Amino acid sequence: MDNTLLRQLPKVDRLLSAPELGELPDTLRADTARRVLDELRTGILAGELTALPDVPALVLLRAKARQTQHLVRVINATGIVLHTNLGRAPLAQAACEAVHAVASGYSNAELLLETGLRGGRLDGIHDPLVELLGCEDAIAVNNNAAAVFLALSALGAGRECIVSRGELVKIGGSFRVPDIMALSGARLVEVGTTNRTRAADYQRAVTEDTGLVMRVHPSNFKVVGFTERPTTAELAEVAASARVPMIEDLGSGAMVPGLGDEPMVADVLRDGADLVLFSGDKLLGGPQAGILAGRRDLVQACRKHPLYRALRLDKMVLAALEATLRLYVAGRTDEIPTVGMLTLGRPDCAALVAGLDGCGLDVQVEDDVGFSGGGALPGHELPTRVVALRGVPPQDLAHALRTRSPAVVPRVARDAVLLDPRTLLPGEIDDVVAAVRQATIAR
Ligand SMILES: *Cc1c(COP(=O)(O)O)cnc(C)c1O
Repeated sequence: MDNTLLRQLPKVDRLLSAPELGELPDTLRADTARRVLDELRTGILAGELTALPDVPALVLLRAKARQTQHLVRVINATGIVLHTNLGRAPLAQAACEAVHAVASGYSNAELLLETGLRGGRLDGIHDPLVELLGCEDAIAVNNNAAAVFLALSALGAGRECIVSRGELVKIGGSFRVPDIMALSGARLVEVGTTNRTRAADYQRAVTEDTGLVMRVHPSNFKVVGFTERPTTAELAEVAASARVPMIEDLGSGAMVPGLGDEPMVADVLRDGADLVLFSGDKLLGGPQAGILAGRRDLVQACRKHPLYRALRLDKMVLAALEATLRLYVAGRTDEIPTVGMLTLGRPDCAALVAGLDGCGLDVQVEDDVGFSGGGALPGHELPTRVVALRGVPPQDLAHALRTRSPAVVPRVARDAVLLDPRTLLPGEIDDVVAAVRQATIAR
């Protein structure tokens, strides 16, 4: 421990009167100064500090950080449409307006305006989902991971749940199908092999204790070569003969055709799945949510399970989800940003190139390959076109773009910063151009 360092620490009064802290509100300045002095004292006592930093400057930095919103809008120039680190799906304008309306005031979240009686929280999403999917009933919870957990808990606890060894996947973070099944109380019965599983394998595994047959969509990987996997219809038949439900975790869940070879939710239900589970913020292009749709008795068993209350949706998410679903009902899918981005051919780079004329960098338009991202359409390549910037160290330029406001997140590859217009929203080209110009001037 260095006593001289402790003695060098400025007294609170002197620190508070430092001219560079003059612009801070009194309480913020006093509170931050005290925290910084505590932090430095702890560092000195622990022997971690060998010299004092510029203390007023550190107070100013910490105070600014405390006043600054961490979660902010970012411009996605990566071309990866469902970028998990960038918040997955950007919402449609109508969805944003619906969120604003219910968030900035009160709402009829659980009130029937016609009668003045209590209404259901999910009333607004029920009808559009049932209409779009042709199913008996549907509910939604916090995300698809929650939907899987809820379905297994409500329908499979204490019973055997038959799953193919090729589908015991890990989705991300710590969400693994076998773990989630153990947590739900369902007993996992594995059948088949990693690459090949047949309907007969499921059939042979049926016992008196069977409670569910489950199929999991390979959302974030692809098994190629010597592979076999029963269809939804074949598994639905096995489940029906065993008199148990067949549930399918679709992960992404496409609502419109043409998104790679991703199965459409309505088709899977028509093929005989009794209950399907899918995300709100993958191919649907809505807010983070997990939708459970299918047979009424199964949906209602999930709805009535105590876990439902712990996983239920907030009014802002419900507003965004309902508005997005109503765009599908009205056939206005061109207003859903992710649908447009995923079905676009090679994007036009002309506006970006024109804006960057004379910026001092080497600007090239190059063909490239993009991906949808976000655990959807694995291996499905999106032929794309990017603006490649060279002439400065790409990591430095990328850092400069990320750390301004609004932040611009590009891709870095081939010793260049790559800007893909696919994921730029209306009006963002000007922001990107301004960001690149400022970043290059600042160097
Ligand atoms: C993405 C995915 C999940 C998890 O969905 P979230 O909405 O991200 O919670 C579960 N299962 C499959 C097959 C998925 O692809």
